[in-house]
Amino acid sequence: MSSYHIETKCIQSGYCPKDGEPRVVPIVQSTTFRYETAEAMGKLFDLEAAGFFYTRLGNPTVDAVEKKIADLEGGVGAMMCSSGQAASLISVLNIARCGDHVICVSAIYGGTFNLFNKTMRDMGIEFTFVPPDVSEDELNAAFRPRTRVVFSEALTNPSLVVLDIEKFSRAAHAHQVPLIVDNTFPTPIHCRPFEHGADIVVHSTTKYMDGHACALGGCIVDSGNFDWSGAGKFPELAQPDESYHGVTYTEKFGKAAYIVKCRTHLMRDLGSAPSPMNAFLLNLGLETLPLRMARHVSNALAVAQMLEKHPKISWINYPGLPSNRYFSLSQKYMPNGTCGVISFGVKGGRDKAVTLMEALKLAAIVTHVADARTCVLHPASTTHRQLNDNQLIEAGVTADLIRMSVGIEHVSDIIADLAQALACV
Ligand code: PLP
Repeated sequence: MSSYHIETKCIQSGYCPKDGEPRVVPIVQSTTFRYETAEAMGKLFDLEAAGFFYTRLGNPTVDAVEKKIADLEGGVGAMMCSSGQAASLISVLNIARCGDHVICVSAIYGGTFNLFNKTMRDMGIEFTFVPPDVSEDELNAAFRPRTRVVFSEALTNPSLVVLDIEKFSRAAHAHQVPLIVDNTFPTPIHCRPFEHGADIVVHSTTKYMDGHACALGGCIVDSGNFDWSGAGKFPELAQPDESYHGVTYTEKFGKAAYIVKCRTHLMRDLGSAPSPMNAFLLNLGLETLPLRMARHVSNALAVAQMLEKHPKISWINYPGLPSNRYFSLSQKYMPNGTCGVISFGVKGGRDKAVTLMEALKLAAIVTHVADARTCVLHPASTTHRQLNDNQLIEAGVTADLIRMSVGIEHVSDIIADLAQALACV
């Protein structure tokens, strides 16, 4: 980990060209890499030497971006995936198998919830979902002998709950298991999960890290802090792996045991590898991440303040507002701001919300958040369309809820667009 400021790391980390090499990370668009001897290549397969041989397991463009993201989070290593979904899947599957149990915060992104609650349950992994505001006693009571990991988002999508990371990491560590935090919404610019006790961080890099809505991607980062051998619960890391000639990850790779196994075991077998082109695009996004995050936050705060005072708005949820119930937690964990996503309700419910959305001219209706362009989504008529109003309330998505991802356009234009749309309601 370098000692530069994070703004410098966003530009410089991960790639340091030698004489005559390209100044910008090159796109190495090759699936495979040449060696003089079978023996040299054999050493790579045996994990006796480091190097590239097949892009599913490693590629120079992807490697440079992985090193940058590891440095941004303050971890010992990172592995990029083809999507955030793949990163969430692999992060858990790396340490939980059929019969094991996972504790997860219920307010997480719906796609992750489906992955855990349906697909991974069908694989035989048990999940207990706890509310984000669960008391420490209730949280401790949720652990079982085969609990292997606790999972949450630092700032939940779309409900914008700020996680009390220290409470969750305390409970996880008291039961000798790691805490995985999805840091997609605040990004490492605004939230430092490892400094509050998280052990693994995952990202959908598709969101602010890319920031231009052009490349799907995910990433897993290992803090290197969790004691896999000492916990006595992770034979897959602390005992020989027969599929890799009996290697014991903790002995051979020390602090990087978890992230090396993600790659050599699960990327090898599941193959959800990122393309070099997408890694290149992500790297461009990372270079401007601190500038963009600051603008997203200042724009979102101004929009939230405008909406909070507007007579046609029934409620507003933005943790950066002093009136928000998560304001003090956001001050602790995200002191420079959360992100650009806000949610609010329009008086008059579903019909008025739809009228408002359709009257917007600058903000587009899209199934996305967290890129440079302001966009909106009405979950009740899109992602949660099959639910009636009562079912929507149970799912925490009221019929009047609009999720707005405030972009980095000039704030006056975003506010003027909202004002003219509200006049139509
Ligand atoms: N985690 C969070 C917090 C998300 O918001 C998303 C997607 O919206 C994901 C993970 C999944 O990421 P992807 O869409 O890149 O697969």
